[in-house]
Amino acid sequence: MTQRPYIVGNWKMHGTRAMLAEARAIDRAAQRHMRVEVAIAPPFTLIHPIHREAELIAVGAQNCHEADGGAHTGEISAGMLADAGAKFVILGHSERRQGQKESNALVRAKADAAIEAGLRVIMCCGEDEATRDAGGAVDFVKKQLTASLPKSVEDLEDTAERLTVAYEPIWAIGTGKTASLADIAEMHAAIRALLVELYGEEKGSDIRILYGGSVKPENARDILGTAEVGGALVGGASLTADSFMGIALAAGETVDS
Ligand code: PEP
Repeated sequence: MTQRPYIVGNWKMHGTRAMLAEARAIDRAAQRHMRVEVAIAPPFTLIHPIHREAELIAVGAQNCHEADGGAHTGEISAGMLADAGAKFVILGHSERRQGQKESNALVRAKADAAIEAGLRVIMCCGEDEATRDAGGAVDFVKKQLTASLPKSVEDLEDTAERLTVAYEPIWAIGTGKTASLADIAEMHAAIRALLVELYGEEKGSDIRILYGGSVKPENARDILGTAEVGGALVGGASLTADSFMGIALAAGETVDS
């Protein structure tokens, strides 16, 4: 792995200003884990407050609109997120693909808008349980990613800095179930091959591929030690500094000293 492991917390629709204390604790603890890149994606309302206070961790968003601005009541643009201090945005999360009916084409348009606005993109992908049981997981994820990844990163010099992929089997999110290490290794190898095909050997080899789905301090070391796993996207276990930094600690242990 040429880049530092990347541990990203997805707070989903959790957190009011009372959670700022937790963000501060995560930021302080991150100073003890400099071999790991730590970031959190809180709800929109906490992006600016966390950005103002954080010394080390990056703050990001969980969604953006595909347009720069205009008559889109209730929406927020990538440029507005950047203005509030966001450095990245999570896109294509299965909760949005399912709950908000986001198509691959829409996810790609959002990702292109985010790249254009200077944000880094974490592009989520993952199969449901029926697809996994039918043996179609790898094909499904390859097709989903091919249709969702932003076009605009192809011309950038720093593609691997600007783009991260997160493999999150839907059936593992928030369920306490995790994919087997063999299945994670197989999927991450397939995603790596796709990234090399799409972006060339140099850029495609450096893009980090995170695993997400019930990652906890207790299982993080094994998952993060699996080939081609460049970090974790963490939901529930990112809501307290103790459990989230337990995962960062495990990530640090996977880095050769
Ligand atoms: C997620 O929502 O991206 C996620 C991985 O959630 P959890 O860690 O709670 O499974």
